[in-house]
Amino acid sequence: MKKIAILGSTGSIGTQTLEVVRNNPDLQVVALAAGTSVEAMEAQIREFRPRLAAMWTESAAADLRARVTDLDVKILVGMDGLLEIATMEESQVLVTAIVGMIGIRPTIAAIEAGKDIALANKETLVTAGHLIMPLAKEKGVSILPVDSEHSAIFQSLNGEPKGRIEKILLTASGGPFRGKTKEQLRNIQVEDALKHPNWAMGRKITIDSSTLVNKGLEVMEAKWLFDVTLDQIQVVVHPQSIIHSAVQFVDGAVIAQMGTPDMKLPIQYALFYPDRRPMGGARMDLFALGQLTFEAPDMENFPGLKYAYQASEIGGNMPTAYNAANEKAVALFLDRKIAYLQIPELIAQSMEHIKVIENPTVDEILATEQEVYAYISGKVM
Ligand code: NDP
Repeated sequence: MKKIAILGSTGSIGTQTLEVVRNNPDLQVVALAAGTSVEAMEAQIREFRPRLAAMWTESAAADLRARVTDLDVKILVGMDGLLEIATMEESQVLVTAIVGMIGIRPTIAAIEAGKDIALANKETLVTAGHLIMPLAKEKGVSILPVDSEHSAIFQSLNGEPKGRIEKILLTASGGPFRGKTKEQLRNIQVEDALKHPNWAMGRKITIDSSTLVNKGLEVMEAKWLFDVTLDQIQVVVHPQSIIHSAVQFVDGAVIAQMGTPDMKLPIQYALFYPDRRPMGGARMDLFALGQLTFEAPDMENFPGLKYAYQASEIGGNMPTAYNAANEKAVALFLDRKIAYLQIPELIAQSMEHIKVIENPTVDEILATEQEVYAYISGKVM
């Protein structure tokens, strides 16, 4: 029996992780955490019977507590709750499926407690990869990628040492606005940006996919996960999202992982690695597909990707500035307070504004996040 705890269990990755649990009776959920979705959490507790559950706010936790008095579950609150779940004795794997930099502290705490990490929360590695990867090595824990592209790279590598990687080919669908010019992007509305051509995901990551910021975050994530340089990571736009990413090896061989877009596969692979379990669902049909196409990313009309390479090149707290600016800008866009094109503009301005700190501590990372939030609030409000 493998025991897992899930942070962000009510979200897109969280609920798909629970579907994987439903299909694998030797997985047991020992803890769940969410923000404020009390009703969904109650249903999950009733079905999966975890020993611990956490909500982000006191009022959500109080509401949940009142609903589950008949069950043997301890309800926790806020960051303390996330930390208690991350380090709980009986869990072996922590699935980090929460959105945003809130994932950093629980991930670090879990690694320190010797838990393997099934990592969906890319913001953690983007901002604190320099702390997390050495710590994971020191503690002998595995960081197992859940992001489909990184899982594809991980599957293509299949244990090959890093020295054999020549290049990583990180694929991108190009999002719903592929081929559009800045002029055509000027009046994009929230509803337009929330329509992803191939993947059904949470709101924030769907916007990030449309701006190519998601690909930028993935470039930074790949750099840490696979210990490669930025010029070894090539983004390839592949609108069909069938090749989930590939590795080009030193002998010129390219090994790719392909399949229909379904996050349950990378989730299940992370939970059972190095085993590969049976899974139902749609199968890729090459005859129906007919052709797969590829093109270079358009970094002029979608500068979010270009800024990610720049932020990662500068390093230190710059990826944090990039990520925090994007988080704030996307939230403002979803609230209809800024226009679509202001998202990359605010990222660039925040990167200009921030003072570089090399090798930032967690406190410095979180302080940079707050500084960027305040800077953008000052500009937009
Ligand atoms: P969602 O927005 O769908 O879900 C986010 C989850 O985090 C929800 O369960 C939410 O709870 C919870 N949450 C939010 N704030 C807090 C908080 N303060 N404390 C505790 N829980 C909180 O996001 P996704 O599932 O789409 O994405 C999760 C992560 O995975 C992101 O980092 C994303 O980049 C990454 N990812 C997602 C992919 C996808 O296909 N969706 C693919 C690859 C990576 P509540 O419901 O209560 O708000």
